[in-house]
Order: sequence, then C-alpha cells, then structure tokens
Amino acid sequence: MFDQQHPRPCGRPTKAGTPCKSQVYGRAFACKLHTTDLEKQLLDAYERGHRDGYAQGRQSAEVSAKLHSEHLERKVKTLEEQLDAQQRRFEDRGAQAVTVDGYGYRWGGPGRLEVGDRVLLPENYVSALRHGSGPFPGTVTALGTTYSGALSAIVSRLPDQRSEDAR
Ligand SMILES: [Zn+2]
Repeated sequence: MFDQQHPRPCGRPTKAGTPCKSQVYGRAFACKLHTTDLEKQLLDAYERGHRDGYAQGRQSAEVSAKLHSEHLERKVKTLEEQLDAQQRRFEDRGAQAVTVDGYGYRWGGPGRLEVGDRVLLPENYVSALRHGSGPFPGTVTALGTTYSGALSAIVSRLPDQRSEDAR
C-alpha cells in the first residue's frame, strides 16, 4: 500500500470528475483533500504503531508498551478490514473484478471465476522481466479488488486439474 516512496498523483476523482493531480508522497492513500476519515484513522494508527515500535526497541522489557502495541495491531487490522469492505468492488465496467496474486484484473467470461482458478494474464512490465514476453499464468487469490484504477483483462482461463476431476 505504501511501497511507493516517489511522488505520485493522487488520482482520485475531483468534483469535475477528472483524476486529482495533487502529488502524494510516501505513506499516504491520497492527497489531504481526498483521504477519507477511515483512511486517516488507519494512517494515525500506523504512525502510532511506528512510534511505539521505535520506543519498544529501546525499552524492550516494558510489558505495557507491548500490550499497547498489540492493541494497536488489532486496531489497524480492524480498520484495514473496514477499509477493504468499503473499497472492494466486484464489478469493472460490466465484467467480473477479481484479484490475481495480489493484483486486480477484470474477467469478461465465459462463466465466473472462483478463488483458486488458474488464469493467463497479459504481459506487463514486471512479467516481461520475470517470465519473458507474452502472457503468464496466475491464480485467483480473492474475489473483487480494492484497486480503484482501470483493470487489465485476463487473457483466458487455464485448464484446472480440480475442476476437470469434478466433471
Ligand atoms: Zn486528491
């Protein structure tokens, strides 16, 4: 979520409907204007966890600090789940939205994809480096995606041993 350290555009829709061009740096979901209350709470919890972690490193014997940190971890987890539920979408321009190995894709059919289905994905910058050019295989890891941007289309469904056995 926060692995992009370089400046990037916020990208959330403005009142005019165009993507926000404000630059966002480091640990952030969006620009100040477009960060939701839930996201602000989550960022605050992350920040506090960060500080606690730092303090803990210096006084590792302090039980209270540890308890506080465990409380924060639970809080972060709950907030992340809330955010996921709020942002997760199962449709993309009339197609099914799924997560394949951590990335959002769209599937126009035939049929619906389920978690565990094997699919062929279109080549991208990273896959070209790792697998060479051309489509590469992946596994559906979740239904829906929390990614709000445009999704690439899955090339095809790959034959799956389990479903062939079931047929
Ligand atoms: Zn913005």
